[in-house]
Amino acid sequence: TESLSSRDPELFKSITDELGRQRDEIELIASENIVSKAVMEAQGSVMTNKYAEGYPGKRYYGGCQYVDVAETLAIERAKELFGCEFANVQPNSGSQANQGVFTALVKPGDTILGMSLDAGGHLTHGAKPNQSGKWFNAVQYGVRKQDSLLDYEQVRELALEHKPKLIIAGGSAIPRQIDFAKFREIADEVGAYLMVDMAHFAGLVAGGQHPSPFPYADVATTTTHKTLRGPRGGMILTNNEEIAKKVNSAIFPGIQGGPLMHVIAGKAVAFGEALRPEFKVYAEQVVKNAQALADELMKGGLDIVTGGTDTHVMLVDLRPKGVKGNATEKALGRAHITCNKNGIPFDPEKPMVTSGIRLGTPAGTTRGFGEEDFREIARLIVEVVDGLAANGEEGNGEVEEAVKAKVATLLARFPIYPEL
Ligand code: PLP
Repeated sequence: TESLSSRDPELFKSITDELGRQRDEIELIASENIVSKAVMEAQGSVMTNKYAEGYPGKRYYGGCQYVDVAETLAIERAKELFGCEFANVQPNSGSQANQGVFTALVKPGDTILGMSLDAGGHLTHGAKPNQSGKWFNAVQYGVRKQDSLLDYEQVRELALEHKPKLIIAGGSAIPRQIDFAKFREIADEVGAYLMVDMAHFAGLVAGGQHPSPFPYADVATTTTHKTLRGPRGGMILTNNEEIAKKVNSAIFPGIQGGPLMHVIAGKAVAFGEALRPEFKVYAEQVVKNAQALADELMKGGLDIVTGGTDTHVMLVDLRPKGVKGNATEKALGRAHITCNKNGIPFDPEKPMVTSGIRLGTPAGTTRGFGEEDFREIARLIVEVVDGLAANGEEGNGEVEEAVKAKVATLLARFPIYPEL
């Protein structure tokens, strides 16, 4: 019966501090979002107490009748949202969703073909330090030197040369829509499975603002917490019955034990929200906001990789201003604008330095910002960057303080979690 604040004041303070940080900063990390109170309520519920190894109706524990309802709701809503026949909502994360597909479809030593991390792919797509790069013969494609667009010709050449069992499309810093039909063609040419990792843009697919991986992908994976705006977690989708069976046994008992039923409950709530008409409005606004942000940053003298974006995310090339990604992330942080340093394609700087930052609009859009607000945010970013350019790593303290005050004014119009 004791509340968290009195039982564990130290931990409680870390949560209230984090709430304060989220309230007081403009969140531009492309992979983050702001979930509803309803999603948090489900996640903080008694479902955390329940063991439910297995799947609805086929569990290894008693007392699963109510968690079965929650998981079935999550599955049915996911299927409706993405127009597919099967969903496994149990992966604890996006990484485990990908691991689940690998366990289902390939064996250690097999060849997989994915996008390299420095070109915009994800760690789990075959990067050396990741299990996917250690257990598989991971071949990596990238983007074209001349325009930084995905190099489909290279994908095809590498596929013909290495005959991968599995080809992965998707990544963490791809600002443009992916041509799934082209990937399908290449996969068919070499008899490979096609997996689309739509973690970043799943919310845009759900909101009708990005082409769906189906019918082209054999299997699609996603996180549930990025543009999709659910609790942290993963999911696997397919229309292929055989793959569906393999995926189910790959997740449990293959790589996971008891599913996180409270998170699955949160997923059900988020998918229900994404099925509502307002979600389409949100998804459309995410893209419009990203285009406004990119446009205004370019007007301020910054380069945007590929010249813009047609999704929620963009890579800002800072080189025209002569500043680095790490210093820019810190300077913007001091002005209460949160983002992450990010390598740009063919980046001459080390990964801990970088020549770029990655910006995204999902969280700001959820908060309520429109295109004019994002143009203002772009101008504030340029002010801070110009301060850095003129003063070195310390930046311009006065400018940063002034921007922080303007950020506070912008945020005051859209408070979050007022009830907390
Ligand atoms: N796949 C892609 C494309 C991602 O961007 C991410 C997250 O960064 C993941 C997978 C992994 O998700 P998680 O961080 O939940 O393991």
